[in-house]
Amino acid sequence: MPTAVIQNNAYDVAMENFDTAANAIGLDKNTREMIKYPERMLLVSVPVRMDDGCIHHFEGFRVQHSSVRGPAKGGIRYHPQVTLDEVKALATWMTWKCAVVNIPFGGAKGGITCNPKMMSPGELERMTRRYTSAILPLIGPEQDIPAPDVYTNSQTMAWIMDTYSMTKGYMIPGVVTGKPISLGGSLGRNEATGRGVFFTIECACEHLHMSLKGATVAVQGFGNAGSIAAQLLYEAGAKILAVSDSTGCVYNRDGLNIPELIAMKSLCGHVEGFPESEPILPHELLAMHCDILIPAALENALHAENAGTVRAKIIAEAANGPITPAADRILESKGVFVIPDILCNAGGVTVSYFEWVQDEQHLFWEAADIYKRLDRVMKTAFRDVLKIHLEKNVPMRIAANMLGIGRVAEAVQIRGIYP
Ligand code: NAD
Repeated sequence: MPTAVIQNNAYDVAMENFDTAANAIGLDKNTREMIKYPERMLLVSVPVRMDDGCIHHFEGFRVQHSSVRGPAKGGIRYHPQVTLDEVKALATWMTWKCAVVNIPFGGAKGGITCNPKMMSPGELERMTRRYTSAILPLIGPEQDIPAPDVYTNSQTMAWIMDTYSMTKGYMIPGVVTGKPISLGGSLGRNEATGRGVFFTIECACEHLHMSLKGATVAVQGFGNAGSIAAQLLYEAGAKILAVSDSTGCVYNRDGLNIPELIAMKSLCGHVEGFPESEPILPHELLAMHCDILIPAALENALHAENAGTVRAKIIAEAANGPITPAADRILESKGVFVIPDILCNAGGVTVSYFEWVQDEQHLFWEAADIYKRLDRVMKTAFRDVLKIHLEKNVPMRIAANMLGIGRVAEAVQIRGIYP
């Protein structure tokens, strides 16, 4: 029986999902002891001179969950609710995610507890550089490679790359991914997560004999992952009924014009007030009568109290950890097909891997090559997870975890324990 978890602790959720999948593959106790827990955790003080001249202290984290299959890899989040437990959970999921798409990386994550919306570009730059300096002993192209996550972007990565390179004395683009193209970034990286989400939705529709054309969609979180997934679904003929961001939710029963909504969001920073839409409440979006629901914001969006209200046929987890185990059980009993995070949003880390390879080789690929490779990786991963789901009769999340954890377990068993 899975153990009870506190609904809002992402690390408890990650541990419960690990135990469920480890039990399902019959993983021995010794291997569990070796792969379950983070390898390294660094908690840093980040003092920053603010624009008014005062020094403000922020708390920062970098967690390396696993380097068993390669350098640790994972994004950096700036958000007021970042905690060590959240970063540990996100790092753990990165390990299984990289293994699901079979790229030679382990898992890591970082974050700073801050409110970037209340900070100036200068304050953000100084905070990023001081944080980079504090985590510098852990990161590097062969050790641990950060990337963007919630409220960080290619500019943040450029500052990290520059700080790291200035300290080492020469330019080292491979220390981060998600960089601007002019600094060794990869074509397609900005769209990669949303594109991967779209691709797994296409695969799910094919499996469930549903047509994407005319399918109805609701998207919670209209940032990098959510807006690009919405854009690609819109282009494929789906009808995006509702989207939300941290400021509000908008709805149009005939479908929202996504390119115009993206243009407005990039101009004004919010979706609220979009013409030809009406405001709705966040819980109405999650309970929307639609074919596909895409949680693309933060953890614990669907939990024991609201999972019963879901009316979508497919949930595509663009976000990491948006469904708690209790909600999973409710959705399973309702027959909702869940594309789990470690499969659904793995397009981002896959193109990050391509970016790292290109940086290491100093040889850059064309966009068409990147999309072809990404589609192949995502299709293989979806097929592998679906096979376990069907053969073992387990939910897609457990199937994905069985695949990812199984690969990490195999690697650690062959490597053995040091000393
Ligand atoms: P982002 O900062 O670009 O966008 C986040 C969006 O979520 C913003 O529009 C914000 O307003 C919105 N949001 C925040 N709280 C909300 C709430 N309570 N309700 C509705 N909307 C809310 O971040 P992102 O990179 O798109 O990341 C979103 C999710 O996708 C995270 O879980 C992240 O870990 C995951 N993810 C991102 C990537 C990537 O490459 N960016 C890769 C894999 C997974």
